[in-house]
Amino acid sequence: SQAALLATEKLAVAGRLAATLAHEIHNPLDAVGNLLYLMKDGATPEESTQFLQLASQELDRVTQISRAMLGMYRESKTPVIVDVKEMLESVLLLLNRQMSQLQLEVRTEFASNASVTGYPVELRQVFINLLSNAADASTQGGIIAVRTKLRSAVRSGKTGGRQAGVEITISDNGVGISDAALPQVFQPFFTTKGEHGTGLGLWVSHGIIEKHSGTIEIESSTDEQNHGTRITVFLPRLDS
Ligand code: ADP
Repeated sequence: SQAALLATEKLAVAGRLAATLAHEIHNPLDAVGNLLYLMKDGATPEESTQFLQLASQELDRVTQISRAMLGMYRESKTPVIVDVKEMLESVLLLLNRQMSQLQLEVRTEFASNASVTGYPVELRQVFINLLSNAADASTQGGIIAVRTKLRSAVRSGKTGGRQAGVEITISDNGVGISDAALPQVFQPFFTTKGEHGTGLGLWVSHGIIEKHSGTIEIESSTDEQNHGTRITVFLPRLDS
């Protein structure tokens, strides 16, 4: 049956993820083990200071990865009504420091009464991920636009149409995503940010939106004239 197939697919994904995760966490932990060994083995005070610093960097990496992962699993059991405008405004407030450091201009256009039924901690995580990606991609004085629109139901006999819900778009005029990178951005651990990225943000976000029966799409351009990224999230109302 379809449900069984889906479950099998999910197990396969979970298995692959566990293997990758073990690998990602193993490397920094091995490094910490080696550094501690070197310190026990009689390092000079200068060396010890350096080793400690390196070990703490490696542990930060482990913390970063586990935080990003947990975003997906911590949450209440029943969905509640979420005011999308309120949520976006609070996330923008949270990211205010990074955004004002870059002197970014944030343009908002919120539909009133845009609410969905869902898991607020998780949805918040999605918007934190998407907006901090937009800020990361931006250069000094860049523009980030956040818009919400109400969508009414579209009835269609064959496909079942589309449910009523809220469409959220987050656009930036940052560096954009290359054609080579674009197909990979939703994969776990794909990052172009080196040590600063976990590559889990979009993967986790995709999982959360899927859990809400929504969709997430990404368009991007690195053209010199017109570079930037637009993410469109659709969340159905799920209330009836
Ligand atoms: P991370 O932010 O830790 O790298 P993500 O899964 O959130 O992980 O993003 C994966 C990659 O997708 C990023 O490293 C970046 O290359 C690309 N990306 C995501 N959002 C944007 C954006 N708004 N502009 C440019 N690149 C982006």
